[in-house]
Amino acid sequence: MSSFHDIIGQKEIINYLKGALSNNQVAHAYLFDGEKGTGKKMIAGIFSKALLCEKGGEEPCGECHSCKMAESGNNPDIITVVHEKPNVISVNEIREQVVNDVQIKPYSGKKKVYIIPDAQLMNPQAQNALLKTLEEPPSYAVIMLLCDNKAMLLSTLISRSICLSMRAVNNELIYKMLTEKHQISDYQAQLATIFAQGNPGKAILLSSSEEFLELWKETHEVLTQISVMDEVQIAEAAKEAAKWKDQKNDLLNLMLIWYRDVLLIKSGGNSEQLIYGEDEREIIRQADNYSFEMLNKIILLIQQTGRRIDSNVNFELAMELLFLQMKGT
Ligand SMILES: [Zn+2]
Repeated sequence: MSSFHDIIGQKEIINYLKGALSNNQVAHAYLFDGEKGTGKKMIAGIFSKALLCEKGGEEPCGECHSCKMAESGNNPDIITVVHEKPNVISVNEIREQVVNDVQIKPYSGKKKVYIIPDAQLMNPQAQNALLKTLEEPPSYAVIMLLCDNKAMLLSTLISRSICLSMRAVNNELIYKMLTEKHQISDYQAQLATIFAQGNPGKAILLSSSEEFLELWKETHEVLTQISVMDEVQIAEAAKEAAKWKDQKNDLLNLMLIWYRDVLLIKSGGNSEQLIYGEDEREIIRQADNYSFEMLNKIILLIQQTGRRIDSNVNFELAMELLFLQMKGT
């Protein structure tokens, strides 16, 4: 990962940052906002490298001493804030690693960059300490806050930063990345793309996750076999499904997408629009067998099942009830 070219999507943010680099209008604080997997760390890393690159273009050259050090994670003018406790960044950590450190001039670069991952974990004291630095930053300081929940940050901190919100990435781009760059098989790439909902990091994770594939195989079996299963087999399947409790959202979403596909065909939709295009024949068969009323009931029940489980209803029983509804008994 060496230049902005390697990032998929986020063109607006990238163009904005390139503009800041080429016009030499770099701000003292940037806030990259977006869920895990959207590429905040990558963009901040490349931007830092470009800021310190000895050639000073709008992309890091990748060849100068500064770029090489940055690539190996050893550029002393790029500081990534770390924290000891998993769920909080303390005021001492911000003081030691940012507030005090920023008073020391850069080693060799023109800038000194601080990257704060999971900035939403800074407690209020830590945020206030950082705010003081942002009110009077040394000319060379650039602070990059990476966060997945802006609402956790003080509004004063946000207003002193340039806010850049990560956007969902187009499915085609994600699919292309998975199949071409990561050599993921078509079907698995398709599934991961649907599921990642515009998040390339999540797509990579899912497409290489044996667990997710296993979840899909088991769910697929129930979805395609439910009409010929008897009550004992349904009870067994519910028991099996119960092991996916931690992935229940994925499990329920896989099913929801399936029945939406069936409903789509039943409503006269084109099979080109199917998400589970590979199962076209089975989906058409089910569209013939289910009434609209039953399909709507199943879809509603899948949605309710998620909420019922959240309110502590027994997972296995909830799944059994759902499977019985899917069978139409
Ligand atoms: Zn360079």
